[in-house]
Amino acid sequence: MDVLTEKQRKLNMRRIGPKNTKPEMLVRRALHARGFRYRLHDKKLPGKPDLVFPRYRCVIFVNGCFWHNHNCSLFKWPKTNRQFWMDKLEGNRLRDQRKKEELIESGWRVLVIWECAIKGVNRLSVDDALERATTFIRSGSGYREIGEKMP
Ligand SMILES: [Zn+2]
Repeated sequence: MDVLTEKQRKLNMRRIGPKNTKPEMLVRRALHARGFRYRLHDKKLPGKPDLVFPRYRCVIFVNGCFWHNHNCSLFKWPKTNRQFWMDKLEGNRLRDQRKKEELIESGWRVLVIWECAIKGVNRLSVDDALERATTFIRSGSGYREIGEKMP
């Protein structure tokens, strides 16, 4: 059983863009299978976190490495419009930073799971990635990122 209503499901299927990307779906399914229950894309919270675990006062962002300007093996600058992309992605990075701080200031714990932890040559095994995620969810830590394996 998924947690989406029929209406949400239709909206999600129509939606094009960075939401409901494959890594996010994988994380959602895997955590759900491990018994975690969450809300999706809560608009009331800063940055509209992908998953919200009210019981654990924890949110998860599953971030695409390009759009969120991750310094990793999946990130590549586009060949054209270099200045545009630099401004755009730097703006995204600063906004992420601001939203993270707002969440932490209001008592939320924030976990970022990078796309490169789930896909690409340096990805973790799904078990490893999920083990790290569930450890964070149950912990009292304020902030953590899960990314690709370091070479
Ligand atoms: Zn990455």
